[in-house]
Amino acid sequence: MIDCEHMSFTYDGKRFVLSDVSIRIAQGEFVCILGGNGSGKSTFAKHINALLVPDEGTMTVDGMDTADEESLYAIRSTAGMVFQNPDDQLVASLVEDDVAFGPENMGVETSEIARRVREALAEVGLMGFETHETNALSGGQKQRVAIAGALAMEPKILILDEASSMLDPRGRRGLMRVCKALHERGMTVVAITHFMEEAAEADRVVVLDGGRVALDGTPADVLVQTDKLAHLNLEVPFACELSERLRSEGVDVPACIRERDLAHAIAD
Ligand code: ADP
Repeated sequence: MIDCEHMSFTYDGKRFVLSDVSIRIAQGEFVCILGGNGSGKSTFAKHINALLVPDEGTMTVDGMDTADEESLYAIRSTAGMVFQNPDDQLVASLVEDDVAFGPENMGVETSEIARRVREALAEVGLMGFETHETNALSGGQKQRVAIAGALAMEPKILILDEASSMLDPRGRRGLMRVCKALHERGMTVVAITHFMEEAAEADRVVVLDGGRVALDGTPADVLVQTDKLAHLNLEVPFACELSERLRSEGVDVPACIRERDLAHAIAD
């Protein structure tokens, strides 16, 4: 569904912020892109819906090359994006009007819009919120409305670009639950985050460091590499909980990692 090959990108023509990145994401996968500040996560996300195009290499989305300007509209309809700040994304004062905004602009028929709004709000757990004021919602609810707005465009891919970073832990958990449920119904989900607990929910975790792929594998493979993650300034103590959880689920986590991480957690 997303195929980037040997992709490099520079904003200023001098320094590459993505270097030789190759990532293939299959239809229906739930992938977390993890990395410290400035590692290139958002730059990568913006390439998926052609807000940016590679200087070198290629990015293909559902078979369409993002560098092909004629595919721009189709690519943006295929890949729905939700951004960091919930307040920047909602355009209408009522929830139902906000979710309807995208399809209305596409000229979708009124009865079809009503169906999409209903289904999208159900998918994000906000049924009954149709006539609520958007500005009275919590940050987590606003992000769920933003996701519903993206879903109303019937995308094949949902990209969350640090969509949880301004939310409290409860809001973050709610958002991840929605992502998991969408994924279980077949949506391809790409979540950009620096929260390791979110990465633990995905099928696959890709860690970026300095614009390069540093790690790529299942959460069980990647998140127990605590030394590497700590080196990338990614919160280690959670890895302790995770390694314990994985161990309790029968995954063979080396004892040295458990003991060392337990010591970290106690020290914290
Ligand atoms: P992350 O999402 O991992 O924090 P970004 O993709 O936002 O990383 O940024 C990667 C690098 O590109 C950083 O060094 C950042 O300063 C730089 N950068 C991001 N956006 C721009 C921009 N619009 N113009 C110039 N440099 C940018």
